[in-house]
Amino acid sequence: MIAIVERLRRTAAQWSRAGVDLLFPPACLLCHADLAAGPSTTDVRAMCGLCVACVRDLLTDGPRCPACGEAGTGCRRCRAANSSAVNEWQEIVLLGSYGDRLRDAVLAAKHPAGDALTGSLAELLVERHRSRLESWDIDGVVPVPMHWLRRSSSGTSAAERIAERVARLLSVPLISALRRERATPKQNTLPVADRWGNVRGAFGRRCDVVGRRLLLVDDVVTTGATLKACSRELADGGAAAVFVAAIAKADRLTEALP
Ligand SMILES: [Zn+2]
Ligand SMILES: [Zn+2]
Repeated sequence: MIAIVERLRRTAAQWSRAGVDLLFPPACLLCHADLAAGPSTTDVRAMCGLCVACVRDLLTDGPRCPACGEAGTGCRRCRAANSSAVNEWQEIVLLGSYGDRLRDAVLAAKHPAGDALTGSLAELLVERHRSRLESWDIDGVVPVPMHWLRRSSSGTSAAERIAERVARLLSVPLISALRRERATPKQNTLPVADRWGNVRGAFGRRCDVVGRRLLLVDDVVTTGATLKACSRELADGGAAAVFVAAIAKADRLTEALP
């Protein structure tokens, strides 16, 4: 955690030297604490628009299975089988569990006015896992798509905005390779047992992904059914590898996927 905070501080110092302090808001995007009132203003503003206390709160997650993202050490489900056979993707990184502070942050970031907060969460996600993300040697970031009907009613897609920022931070292109073929009921409105059937076959490809190493991005992972359907679509299109990055995982909903 200290290393991540130090990296964020260094980045801010560079921005500060470049005269772009004004990019940072005067108040923490999450708790609205006055950032200018802190004892070390520049350092506090370094935290991608968040105060030090909020950054610490958002970086408390413990060890997770690198394959499925389940909390804890020693995930029997993934150890028993090849990860991609179980999960459809190779590996996953998460900022933390969908609860408390991270839940508040994700919900606030979903609003159209939450763009800056979305960027902050994406930045923390990348900085927390930068070495793993870079080791995957990805050549494109793919957002989990929202159906155009739903997008036009909500006006925003958190997954797309997170994916845009992650792509920029990793210096790889954003590739909107998937589209939703049908407007499915929201996963969180359905019983867990019905979720895989709801999204299976719901996605199609918009472009060629043959041979590409792709990072699939979503905001919240619940059962993993949506990510599984998207990963399968990319793999069917010939992607060389699919990895996943998401802000939060609803750990209590984790159960064996079909
Ligand atoms: Zn704060
Ligand atoms: Zn696992």
